[in-house]
Amino acid sequence: MRIDPHTHSSCSDGTDAPAELMRAAAQAGLDVVGLTDHDTTIGWEEAAAAVPSTGVTLLRGTEISCAAGGVTLHLLAYLFDPEDEALAEAFAHARDSRGTRAQRMVERIAVDYPITWEDVLAQSVGHAIGRPHIADALVAAGSFENRDAAFAGPLAVSSPYYAHYWALDPVEACALVRAAGGVPVAAHPRASQRQRRLVPDETFAAMAEAGLAALEVDHRDHGPADRRAARDLADRLGLGVSGSSDYHGAGKPNRLGENLMPPDLLERIVDEGALPLVTP
Ligand code: AMP
Ligand code: ZN
Ligand code: FE
Ligand code: FE
Repeated sequence: MRIDPHTHSSCSDGTDAPAELMRAAAQAGLDVVGLTDHDTTIGWEEAAAAVPSTGVTLLRGTEISCAAGGVTLHLLAYLFDPEDEALAEAFAHARDSRGTRAQRMVERIAVDYPITWEDVLAQSVGHAIGRPHIADALVAAGSFENRDAAFAGPLAVSSPYYAHYWALDPVEACALVRAAGGVPVAAHPRASQRQRRLVPDETFAAMAEAGLAALEVDHRDHGPADRRAARDLADRLGLGVSGSSDYHGAGKPNRLGENLMPPDLLERIVDEGALPLVTP
């Protein structure tokens, strides 16, 4: 069974609409795809509606923005109740803060580059706005060749244009996800080229106490040493091991199915989750 449990649609910062993503998953020969847009569940319905025609099973999820001591961490949450008030409120707060933060970054960037806030809005569906949308505006303005180049420049965490946004504490987020009947998995925990500092092992230990199920080990932002370190940490904490493409459509080189989740981990997520998979 080919399971790619972590992808993005245009409901956050991917470029495929959810139904297009499902068709792309079928073309890539996937049996199961996880739609995990940042801080939202808004794409679930459209993706679910495309299950019968594509024959691809849908794993409903969200990639939750978290931060601990100024260090960003992404938490994948699967099969939780989308009506859960505490979680929905946290998502809304994070999206709101993403918007304010993007505006702040655009104000700073606009001093040196020819982009406006309207240009950035035009690159998104206006939901869960992130740096990739600013990157797209910079590319459209001709300032950079592609998203990658923009991320290496004014969008880098180390750049003077960078601004932070509100995000949940990752331990609290694990507890919230479990309280909503969901199953949390830490996304790319060792992706060190994204930011200089990583979340310390003690935080992952506390997350494990709070219900964390697995670490994403096989991810293109992890080099061989990162994968070894993540696998060791998962072993030490008794956590499962996952893998994914973190597909973003045309916005990134990540290809659907380039890394996969083992079937027994999916089985456990389905056992523990409040929602079923959406099957053809
Ligand atoms: P944000 O959530 O606004 O801080 O932006 C981070 C998002 O940008 C992550 O979800 C990544 O998928 C994406 N991202 C990070 N680095 C790059 C890159 N070099 N090219 C394209 N997208 C990137
Ligand atoms: Zn993203
Ligand atoms: Fe992520
Ligand atoms: Fe992601």
